[in-house]
This record gives sequence, structure tokens and C-alpha cells, in this order.
Amino acid sequence: MPSSPRIPGYRFLHSPGPTRVPDEVLHAMSRQPMDLADPRVASVIAACESGLKQLLQTDRAEVLMYAANGHGVWEGVIANLLGPGDAVLVPGTGHFSDGWAAQAEAFGAIALRTPWVEGEPIDASSVEQVLREDTQHRIKCVFAVHTDTASGVTSDMRALRAAIDAARHPALFVVDVVASLGAAPFAMDALGANVAVGASQKGLMVPPGLGFIAVDARAFEVARANPAPRFYWDWARRRGEQSYQKFCGTPPHSLLMGLEAALGLIFHEGLEAVLSRHARIARAVHAAVDCWSEGGALSCFAPSAAARSTSVTAIAVRGGIDVDALRSVARERFQVAIAGGLGPLAGRVFRIGHLGDLNAAMILGALAGVEAALRVRGIPFQSGVGAATASLATA
Ligand SMILES: *Cc1c(COP(=O)(O)O)cnc(C)c1O
Repeated sequence: MPSSPRIPGYRFLHSPGPTRVPDEVLHAMSRQPMDLADPRVASVIAACESGLKQLLQTDRAEVLMYAANGHGVWEGVIANLLGPGDAVLVPGTGHFSDGWAAQAEAFGAIALRTPWVEGEPIDASSVEQVLREDTQHRIKCVFAVHTDTASGVTSDMRALRAAIDAARHPALFVVDVVASLGAAPFAMDALGANVAVGASQKGLMVPPGLGFIAVDARAFEVARANPAPRFYWDWARRRGEQSYQKFCGTPPHSLLMGLEAALGLIFHEGLEAVLSRHARIARAVHAAVDCWSEGGALSCFAPSAAARSTSVTAIAVRGGIDVDALRSVARERFQVAIAGGLGPLAGRVFRIGHLGDLNAAMILGALAGVEAALRVRGIPFQSGVGAATASLATA
């Protein structure tokens, strides 16, 4: 007997990661593990590496994969690029820039931060100013979070690249695309990013546990010259041909098979089509939230439409509203799982993830389920499902 009753239909998963796993990915993952010398291991790894390069739009960078979540690959970047006393600039985006900066500090690095204004993207001019003031070039890297999943804000990475160039600063440009890859445009080579880090469970539609780091030649050179001790994360150790070496141990077969299938789905639909689907669905969510806010209790956390993420929308709630109770009703009674606020936004926002394996009818169902939960909780709002439907019908 299962410990909890079966849910009729399925539960809508609208956390911004982990996201819904497509059936094709689940099926691919249900295969048996393989002997380490089985040539199929090498072939699934090669398919994932080349698919990720294609998705990141890079010919220059090499992809290293890890049996790790996003925090793991953050650490992989820090361990290779920063030593004790090295400085890193982490432009403020909120919870995730704070987390990455704190992790760098735990390794003895000096993390400089630009201020974060709630609901706003990275201020490229303050990044440029900090870099200009660093005349000794003590800052080795800029760690930029493309989409801060806690606030639902996407920052302009091209403006950031331009700021680094304008300051004529040699810092490596390292971009966290954990929440944006496969949901928002990102072209590593065209952008001039030296390193990109991502993970399996968001736009890539694979269960959590597989992270990756794309590294260009300049970043490999900085890592080579970095004397800080490391082993598991070490990029140089992972550049061999043997799968056991590539993963510093046994590769996570099931996740790799799932990732190969997921990349196949993305390329079969077409990356442009995937990105425009995300933009279309995000516009529908934003249209609904704009209606909700007419009730006076809710508002979109990102005031500027241009900065709103195509992956996740954070909705600010008026003081006194119990976000956890709202989430429980949405999940347990209406089968719509939404996320709460992280870090300084705990209790102040709820979030609707809208990335990955998602279509128009699914997002309308999710929005309606949230509206039902808002009604149960007595939170005033003006219905936005009609506006979302209209948005989808005209897009
Ligand atoms: C989710 C997320 C992370 C952390 O990933 P985990 O797999 O939860 O460790 C890092 N950065 C961003 C932008 C994220 O959205």
C-alpha cells in the first residue's frame, strides 16, 4: 500500500525547479545502469556534452558535467578560479547572488557586491564603476546570475559584458544560467562569457542532480595558474577521455540518459520555438498577475515588464497574508504546487514557475488553481485567467 493516496490526474508542478519531467525523459531514465567500460556510457556523455554546447551556443567552451546540483557547480567554479585572498565581484540580484558570494567567502575569497534594489535587475553602471576603481585588477572574476529565481528578475548580460569591456577590466565573466537556460536567450560565445554554469532540474526538464560548467580557454588558463587545493572539482583532472575520469568517479547514468532525451526534445521543438513558447507563457502569467494586483493585496515583484523573467514570476503579498497557508491550499486542495519566498523574501512573495515542459492549457490550469486557493484564503484579487487566456489567444 502506498503511504499516501493516489492523486487523480496529476499535480501541477510550478516550482521554478525542479520542474515537470517529460514522459520521454522518464522513460529514458528507466534503463539499467551500465558497466563503466560499456561504449554506450561514452556515447551518452558525448551526446550530453555536444547538446549542452549547442544549447549554450558555444564552439569555444568545453562542457564539464558533475554529479551535483547548482550549488555544487557554483563550488566547482569557485574552487577552480579563486584562491584565498582573491577578489570576485558579484553584482547584486538578490538571494542567489548573495548565496554565491557567501560560498566564495567560505573559500577565503573576497566577495565584492553591488547593491541590489528589490525587483530590479543588475545595475551595469555600478558594476562598471567598481571595476574601474579596481586599478590593480585584484578582481579575478565577475559572477553574474542571469535569472534570479527568488525575485523572478532577469538581468541583461550584454549590458554587463559591455560594462566589463568599458572598464577595460580583465576579469573573467562567469554566468549562472541555472534558471534561464532553455527559457531565455543565452549565447555564450556571442556574449563573450568565459564560463557558464547550469543544472538539470529547471529549463532542462531533468530531475535534480546533474550540474555542468562550460569553460573557455581563458578560464582554463586562470584555473591552471590557481594554486588553491582541489580534487573532485578540479577541471584539469576531468579533461580526460575515460568516463570515470570525467566524473571523478562513477557517472550518474540515469541522469545522463534523461538529459540526452531532454536535449533531444528541445532540439526537436527547435530552440527558437522553445524560447518563444516560454515568452508567450510568461506574458500570460504577467497579464494575470496584473489583474490580481487590482485587488490591492498582490503585485508583481518586478515592476518593470522588461526585467520579468520568462522562467518564474514572483508575486508580492500585502503584509499579514500567510504565504505558506496559501501554498498548502493550492497544493493539497487544488493540486497546484507553487513556491514560496527565499531568504529576505520569505513570507513576502509566492512564486509561480513557468519553465520547461509546459503548454498554454497547463498554465491556464495552474493560474485558475492559484485563483481558487486565493479565494479559499480570502485574499482579494481580480481574476486574471481571462486576461491570460486573451494573451495566449492573441500571441
Ligand atoms: C536553483 C538555482 C541555483 C541553485 O541550484 P540548486 O540545484 O538548487 O543547488 C543557483 N542559481 C540559480 C539562478 C538558481 O535558480
